[in-house]
Order: sequence, then C-alpha cells, then structure tokens
Amino acid sequence: MAFVVEKFGGTSVAGPDRIRVVADHVARRRSRGDETVLVVSAMGSETDELLRMASDVAADPPGREVDMLITGGERKACALMAMALSDLGAPAESFTGSQAGFRTDSSHTGAKITQITPGRIIDALARGMVPVVGGSQGVSGDGDVTFFGRGGSDTTAVALAHVLDADYCEIYTDVPGVFSADPRIVAEARRMETISFDELLEMTASGCPKPAMRAVELARTYGVELHVRSAFSWMPGTTVTGEEAMEHAIISAVTHDASEAKMTVSGVADRPGVAGRLFRTLADTDVNVDVIVQNVSSRGVTDISFTVPRSQLDTARTAAQGLIGELEADDVSADDGIARVSLIGAGMQTNPGVAARMFETLASAGINIEMISTSAIRISCVIRAGDMERAVSTLHESFELDKDPADRASVY
Ligand code: ASP
Ligand code: MG
Repeated sequence: MAFVVEKFGGTSVAGPDRIRVVADHVARRRSRGDETVLVVSAMGSETDELLRMASDVAADPPGREVDMLITGGERKACALMAMALSDLGAPAESFTGSQAGFRTDSSHTGAKITQITPGRIIDALARGMVPVVGGSQGVSGDGDVTFFGRGGSDTTAVALAHVLDADYCEIYTDVPGVFSADPRIVAEARRMETISFDELLEMTASGCPKPAMRAVELARTYGVELHVRSAFSWMPGTTVTGEEAMEHAIISAVTHDASEAKMTVSGVADRPGVAGRLFRTLADTDVNVDVIVQNVSSRGVTDISFTVPRSQLDTARTAAQGLIGELEADDVSADDGIARVSLIGAGMQTNPGVAARMFETLASAGINIEMISTSAIRISCVIRAGDMERAVSTLHESFELDKDPADRASVY
C-alpha cells in the first residue's frame, strides 16, 4: 500500500475519453489499496487557448484577470475528473487551489507559495474520498485567485506530496520517463531508470521541457521522490531521488535548447565596472541572461557575448544599445540563429576527458562551437541552430548513451 500524489495534465486529460482512462487507472489503484491525491492541470492546450483569448480582447490584460481566466482551465479539468472517478465507483471531490489550502503572494501569473494548509484534503481522505486538486493555483493574502505560471501544476503536486508526507509524487506526461536525449531527435534515446535531482535540474535548465524546473527544485529541497511516467503506457518510468546510483554513468543525457538568442557588445572598455553596469541594466529590465563570455582584451578593449531568451531579445538589445556611449562600446549585435547543446552527468566531475571528447565530436561533425559554458555536472556549447539536431545525435552516439551505463567506456 502506498500513499501517492499523482499529477495529470495536458494531453493525458485532453478530452472526456482521456479523463475516463485516467479515472479508471486511479479507481483500480484505489481498489488495490493505494491511497491517492490527484493534481490536474488544464485539458489539452486549453491554457494556450485561454491566453490567446485574453490577448484578443485586451492589449495588456491585467494579471489579476489573467489568473482568474487561466485557473478556470484547471478548475474545469478537476471537476470533470472528480465526476468520472465517482462514476467509476471511486468517490471523489474536486478542490480549487484555494480550497486545497494554497496561500501565495500576489505576483499574478507567477505566484509563489507562502503556506499550505491542506485541512480539507486530509478531511476528504479521511472520508474515503479521492481529492482532486486544481494545479498551479492558490489564493493571495488579498483573497484573489493566483496562478503559479506555466507548468505550475507539477509544483502543486510536489508541494502537496511534501506537506501530506506522501510516499512519492508521480508526474504523468506523454513520454514514459526521462530520456538520454529527446526521443523525437534521437530514435535510440534511452529511458533512464533513475536520475538524481541535480542532474534532472541541469537537464531542465538546459532545455528538457518536463517536469517543470521549479517542481524539480522543490522536490530536491524537500526530498520528495519523483516518478516521471506516461499516462499512455502506464510503464514504471524514471525515478528521481537524491541518491546517486552505485555505478554511476559518466554522462546521463544530452539536451538541447533552441529558445535563446546571442547578443554581443563589442569594443567595450576593459575596466572595472563595465560588466556590472551592463548586466545590472539587463537585470533591471528583467532580462534573464545565461551563457556569458568575455574575451581577453587587446589594447584595452574587449567583447562581451551572452545568451538571452529569444522572446527577450528586443528588450535586451534596446537596453544594451542605451549603454553604448557610457561603456565606450563600438556596437551591439544580435543573433537569433543559435542553439545550445549540453551534456549532463554527475560522473563528469571525476572524468577529465569529457569536455575534450565533446569538442572533438562536434569538430568531427564539422560543427563550429561559438560559446562554451560549464557547471560541475554540465558542459554546454552554443552552435548554429541548423546544426542542433545533428549535434545532439552525434553526441548521443559518441558517448554511447544508447547503451546500458555498464557497457559504456569508463574513461574518456
Ligand atoms: N495548465 C498550465 C499550463 O499549461 C499549468 C500546468 O500545466 O502545469 O502551463
Ligand atoms: Mg500543461
């Protein structure tokens, strides 16, 4: 018998048929003796549709109203799920985020949880009900409905698993786990049985879309074991824990991210304070800077390049151009034809050849590296966007990620 928080969303609850399939799974599980709490996010692409409607009626819709609108998607899905469950003999009750006890700050469309008082969920469980909670939502101190942001239902699920002291939290998606590369690009990509929080965090920060990074961070902080599974195959999936596997692979995965653009501020003066001034200005306009490279200066001037989300490129360019005079820069240029490929693996910390092999692999495929950045367990290269898929495949092959870790090279 297990006590589990299960999260379903998007394609797994896209329509009435899918809701019935999920409800059937939950009802069977319950009859086997497991106790579950469900977290549901909006059906199919409903969140996108609601956001589109908001922008159709107003140029700049107020955050309060956007949150009221979007959370309706989750509310609809959880009520339908509760009906389907009850119909299958598993009595269920739906709850909005507010009813489930999620208190948040009032930053609309990106609210942070401040407190959870899950009394009604505990009570529903005690009455033999399956609680079905609307994801990604809560209520602010002012009593307004708040939305946690895109993908926030994963966060709801992890937070509930923590406060209810569940055995683990299951995140259901349309792929059966965490893979060594995006299976749409690499047919040989391997599902990992286990992965550490740290590796999965690096993966989500470098382009792996699911589960949501914020939820992985929360799970790591509170030690909530995560299972990433498919609501289509119902196979065991990938377990994410704080424990490192005994025989750890050197490299776990290769990720890619085509959502960024590169900016270069060239010919800036090489003196203290220049980088501080540039990046403070960008931070003040809420631009999220990632890979940063500053060249060695020659004759007192240098170039600074960095990546930003493509959606923020115009804001970043305007901000940087405003500093040309002050920084004595020659020019600000933008390039939206880039992509980033990254290798992730806790084992690279003790294996010195990984970076060299990565660069050699890209070179032998004729792929030029424009920027490089690293963390203790990640190496990222910025390359041309058109080379991205080839880079992912050739790195996957070179590091033998299609094989069982025990059958791969043990040194690079
Ligand atoms: N429905 C919301 C979204 O699509 C929240 C979620 O899925 O977690 O972003
Ligand atoms: Mg979603």
